[in-house]
Amino acid sequence: MRNKIQIAFALLLLMACQTPEQALKNAESSISGERMKEYILELGSDAYQGRKPFSQGEKLSIDYLKKCFQEIGLEPANGNSYFQKVPLVMVNGKVGTPLNITTPNTTLSFEYGHDFVAFSRQMTPELQVQDSELVFAGYGIVAPEYNWNDYAELDVAGKTVVVLVNDPGLDSGRQDFFTGDAMTYYGRWSYKYEEAARQGAEAVFIIHDDKGAGYPWSVVVNSAAVAKVYPETDDNYMNRCKIEGWIHQSQAKELFAAMDLNLDQIIEEAKKNTYQGFEMKAKAKLKLNNSWHKDVSHNVMGMIRGTDLADEYLFYSAHWDHLGIGKTIDGDSIYNGAVDNGTSLAWMMEIAHAFKAMPQTPRRSVVFFAPTAEESGLNGSGYYADHPIFPIRKTVANINNDLMLPFGRCKDVMVTGYGKSSLDDILLQEAQKQDRYILPDPNAHTGMYYRSDHFSFARVGVPALFARGNNHHREKGKEYMAEREQYWINNCYHKPDDEYQDWWDLSGVEEDAKLLFRVGWHIANSDEYPQWKEGSEFKAIRDRQFD
Ligand SMILES: [Zn+2]
Repeated sequence: MRNKIQIAFALLLLMACQTPEQALKNAESSISGERMKEYILELGSDAYQGRKPFSQGEKLSIDYLKKCFQEIGLEPANGNSYFQKVPLVMVNGKVGTPLNITTPNTTLSFEYGHDFVAFSRQMTPELQVQDSELVFAGYGIVAPEYNWNDYAELDVAGKTVVVLVNDPGLDSGRQDFFTGDAMTYYGRWSYKYEEAARQGAEAVFIIHDDKGAGYPWSVVVNSAAVAKVYPETDDNYMNRCKIEGWIHQSQAKELFAAMDLNLDQIIEEAKKNTYQGFEMKAKAKLKLNNSWHKDVSHNVMGMIRGTDLADEYLFYSAHWDHLGIGKTIDGDSIYNGAVDNGTSLAWMMEIAHAFKAMPQTPRRSVVFFAPTAEESGLNGSGYYADHPIFPIRKTVANINNDLMLPFGRCKDVMVTGYGKSSLDDILLQEAQKQDRYILPDPNAHTGMYYRSDHFSFARVGVPALFARGNNHHREKGKEYMAEREQYWINNCYHKPDDEYQDWWDLSGVEEDAKLLFRVGWHIANSDEYPQWKEGSEFKAIRDRQFD
């Protein structure tokens, strides 16, 4: 017994004598690729049925995550519970008619699922627009910080608005105009639908194009075909437009041509600050039926309580949900989501292990957050942001990951949304210690910054970081990663083949866990609040919280 006590004492002494760098190195060495593999195999196994919210797969997933958090030694983060209930509603829409548009010269009839798609959040069984006047509203953006208002001279109340996708910065060649090719939130469909509703429109259609949207028309059609999941609201979404949708660019061209207008020319014009939209002298008619059911899903959250700054919080996040059981491809219908998002869950859990392996507790509290229903539109994290357990003002930063490629160690650290916050500077400092370089997301025009859970934190003002190695393999170079990623997107992304493979190399995910552990450790032990940089659309929101 005495021996044991002596050894324990000696160990404590040893830990206390470590330099901070030694302590970090020791903690890092507790990050284990082998254990990552176990997490991914378990969460990605067929038993979890693709981790669909509300399913038996949800029950298994959230119980397993809770068990892991307990084993790591994390405390429950929601009172004495590891769960936060997330009330959601699943809405199934059926479009019963073509979209008929009458112009002074002709009547156009667009086919659902081919020429256009439409859906509605309003929980009403029957929704229709009839003789609804069409108004073209440019990009459909009201952005005072860019001195931009597409609705300034328009009255769209009770009418159908037609808008362009993305924002005017795209292809402008100017970094100071919106944010150049990098999409702002104003470019996302979700914003355009929100703004049209604020303007009182009864319907809104976005004109699709591949580059502007960041994905092909087939993605629009496929996601319109499945039931949509939204957070439950008191007003059952009656404040939203009756109908939301997309029109294929060819049909939009046809529509403008029917009024002797050229869409390509109009797109050029609409990029100018002086541009004004117009009444299209056309009327729309469409009908759809909605059915819905309400249910409760769960965010999972564990934490390490801090010391002298325990009432300030750093959030790590990785969504636990995936797509469930879907269309059968090659005899398999379980969408396992091993990469999306098993790899990031493993990444987050290993970071938690590293925090627990440090000789001292961090000054700030650190929350490990696995939100639900990310795949259906950031619903779990969005619910948390609107119903936070810890004050948003005291939430100093979010570090999120999603879909980490298991193809080995990378030279690059790809930052989606690079330049938005001071978190980039901390990351750069730590990345250099790993002999790595920062790569701003080369596809920033796709608006990826708005497409995973960090955005839920950003939109309420919390500086958020989304970074991982992705493009430049340390030994095999850039071409190898490009080829692997392309292969993965074509064959596995949102398909039943997103399954664990024996040839995977998790050393890159492991290295990213070490990197973002260090970034988080730095933040969790600092007095400073990470800041949004000048020009970021979230800066004003954060600044208001500190007035
Ligand atoms: Zn994902």
